[in-house]
Amino acid sequence: MPSYNVAPLSRLIEQFERLPGIGHKSAQRLAYYVLGLSKEGAANFANAILEAHEKIHYCKVCCNLTDQELCPVCRDKDRDPSIICVVEDPRDVIALERTHEFNATYHVLHGAISPLNGVGPEQLCIKELLARIGNSEVQEVIMATNPTVEGEATAMYISRLLKPLGVKVTRLAYGIPVGGDLEYADEVTLSRAIEGRSEI
Ligand SMILES: [Zn+2]
Repeated sequence: MPSYNVAPLSRLIEQFERLPGIGHKSAQRLAYYVLGLSKEGAANFANAILEAHEKIHYCKVCCNLTDQELCPVCRDKDRDPSIICVVEDPRDVIALERTHEFNATYHVLHGAISPLNGVGPEQLCIKELLARIGNSEVQEVIMATNPTVEGEATAMYISRLLKPLGVKVTRLAYGIPVGGDLEYADEVTLSRAIEGRSEI
């Protein structure tokens, strides 16, 4: 049997296969697509990866991703710095910003406490959050970590650290999705929805 294995192609497929949600078939398809690019297209693709790696780092204040010293939210003078919304992931900031309801600032933890996956508080941007509380006018911290076991544990852990500092700590109300059906909501969602009820 002749071997059809072309080493550089196999390496390319292997790299794509490491990406989240990409199986072998998809990795193959992407690798062949990249192979079909012009030399310039391939260079642009490779450079975009390198440039993102080189230029993107954590915002000095909120640990969100940025290519400057401060992220766009921390640069925005119209934001209310007395409220900080704590999220697990930079993508959560984008999701909350889409609501256009929120004029406060954020703090990105870059994960949640998860002993099973070996993630402890020291691996998250928690000390940066405490530093912000220590030297500014922060009045409220909204814990907007995910409604998962890890997200809840992280919210509890941080709120215990913050309360002695005299700052109000709140938790996002989680509820029934719009268009959802009460009957199909799980117990955690239902009990959080009841807890987070508001007057109409
Ligand atoms: Zn920032």
